[in-house]
Amino acid sequence: MKKSHIRIVTLGALAAFAFAFSFLLPAAQEKPKLKFFISVDMEGISGIVHGDQTTPGTAEYAAGRKWMAQDVNAAVEGALEAGATEVVVNDSHGSMRNIDPDDLHPRAILISGSPKPLSMMQGIDASFAACLLIGYHAKAGTEDAILDHTISSSVVRAVRVNGAELPELGLNAAIAGYYGVPVVLVSGDTAVCRQAGEILGKDVVTVAVKEAYGRLAAKLVPMGEARRMIKAGVKDALTKLGRAKPFKIAPPYNFELGYHVSAQADMAAMLTEVKRVDARTVAFTADDFILGFRKLRALIALAPAR
Ligand SMILES: [Zn+2]
Repeated sequence: MKKSHIRIVTLGALAAFAFAFSFLLPAAQEKPKLKFFISVDMEGISGIVHGDQTTPGTAEYAAGRKWMAQDVNAAVEGALEAGATEVVVNDSHGSMRNIDPDDLHPRAILISGSPKPLSMMQGIDASFAACLLIGYHAKAGTEDAILDHTISSSVVRAVRVNGAELPELGLNAAIAGYYGVPVVLVSGDTAVCRQAGEILGKDVVTVAVKEAYGRLAAKLVPMGEARRMIKAGVKDALTKLGRAKPFKIAPPYNFELGYHVSAQADMAAMLTEVKRVDARTVAFTADDFILGFRKLRALIALAPAR
């Protein structure tokens, strides 16, 4: 009798202590933050094989933007199952107003509209644990790749950084790497998945949702299966996060921009810090990758139409 009374008193004291302690250290009660960043382009989305499906004002665009939301929602679900406390989705195609906010997963935060200083990577910073690239496409000039291009089909023939030609996934992975964030998954066609492996290494998870026959046709993974693969791939990539390394390119940076026509390079070469490499190619250097990327974007956006 006496012994159990002591036990009750002891338990009561412990409970009172824990209660008081919870007020002293509120942060210890909170779930640690686990933030994931998703950049979503459109050409590599499940079902998409033609520019009509990615261009506002066409009959097929409504379907394209819905497919885009469904691929990204599958990625959001995978991220939440992997323990995400916050998922930020940056709409990264064209006007960057493709995803109808009503169609996005209710737990995800949308970044919508353009232009944005970091473009397809706007919103990323060092607080994110990982980055996912959904609906991406191969670089300009890739064979058997749906809607292959680099940033702008009408302006850019190639972008090189320190001699290596990069697709958008490489430039954007380097932006993530600048903030110490690894890109752990890329989805799109088989061609962009191959390029992701070549640039980011064997640990990046790739999800191929289609295999191209040329630039405007592909064999599609059935839509439900493609979304299931994206969700499973994201969950897999985020649960083995410890192995992932940020993609970093050593400074200084030599950016080389190959235009389609010489008139575009004529205009870029007006700037004193821009060097003319050949009729269609210009180059410039930067010590900071973000500043170099911003200059690259401006030289692309301000180029005259060919
Ligand atoms: Zn795009």
